[in-house]
Amino acid sequence: MASKKVLIVYAHQSSGSFNSAAKDAAVEVLTAKGCAVEVSDLYAMTFKATATAEDITGKVKNADHFCYGEETKLAWEAGKLTADISEEQRKLTEADLVIFQFPMYWFTVPAIMKGWMDRVLTLGFAFTHEKRYSQGIFKDKKAMLSFTTGSQESMFSANGINGDMNVTLWPLQNGILHYCGFQVLAPQIFWAPSHVPSEARGTMLEGWRTRMQGLLGENPLAFTPLDCFDGEKGYQLKPEVHEQHAAKEFGLTVGIHLGKALPPNNQMKAGV
Ligand SMILES: Cc1cc2nc3c(=O)[nH]c(=O)nc-3n(C[C@H](O)[C@H](O)[C@H](O)COP(=O)(O)OP(=O)(O)OC[C@H]3O[C@@H](n4cnc5c(N)ncnc54)[C@H](O)[C@@H]3O)c2cc1C
Repeated sequence: MASKKVLIVYAHQSSGSFNSAAKDAAVEVLTAKGCAVEVSDLYAMTFKATATAEDITGKVKNADHFCYGEETKLAWEAGKLTADISEEQRKLTEADLVIFQFPMYWFTVPAIMKGWMDRVLTLGFAFTHEKRYSQGIFKDKKAMLSFTTGSQESMFSANGINGDMNVTLWPLQNGILHYCGFQVLAPQIFWAPSHVPSEARGTMLEGWRTRMQGLLGENPLAFTPLDCFDGEKGYQLKPEVHEQHAAKEFGLTVGIHLGKALPPNNQMKAGV
């Protein structure tokens, strides 16, 4: 994987944190493998989390009824997005792989990272009506979530109190990453590092280091291709695709379950 470019979008306040250690391990291992690694350290950058009219330099089209998506699309086309957004878009354009490193907050990414997604993944730049999902703008790039939890793994199982982690990951992995076309690599989940012995934390970091040796060669998670849905009929699954899966035990993905059981590990492992 020599000469590949990796962008790590990192959200933790503390350099003494487990997330910081996971980020540092990624920088070290991927750099040693010949990758050019850039880190966007969002808290250190005091990255703005809110999507507002201030993200546009100069006049907006309709200040009375400001529509963020439409206005930022026009601003992106005219080169009028603020420098912090343009710089992240530059990094993203150059990257072959984007790693989002964060502690899980309220079943999703911290607000500062959500702000990065809201503001950097601009309409026109990251997606259009025609170019999304399997035909998305970033279909030649890979992306993955690498995160820590406070919960133990059992709490995020199908029987656990938090529900199935595959369901939790669907909005982020399908609704944001795959929507923009990214090939989504299986997530790296560090379960409850605050609640395990120091030795177990070392083992988790070692596992991450080992995984990174082959990370860019990994197969991505499976999503249902865009052409399986009928755009003329509200993007419903086409009847013939439905029929192809009629006899199967599990649904297609976590999001498209066809009244069947959720496919196990659909958002956690490639090839399932
Ligand atoms: C607002 C909010 C919402 C939350 N929502 C959720 C939620 O929805 N679901 C959920 O499961 N959790 C949730 N949490 C918990 C949160 O996800 C965890 O606290 C977080 O993931 C722990 O990661 P950390 O990096 O902050 O751990 P830290 O506390 O920084 O680190 C854990 C331990 O690792 C040690 N460590 C640091 N570096 C190394 C190293 N190199 N080697 C070995 N050990 C090291 C640290 O010293 C510490 O003892 C939430 C927390 C907050 C604040």
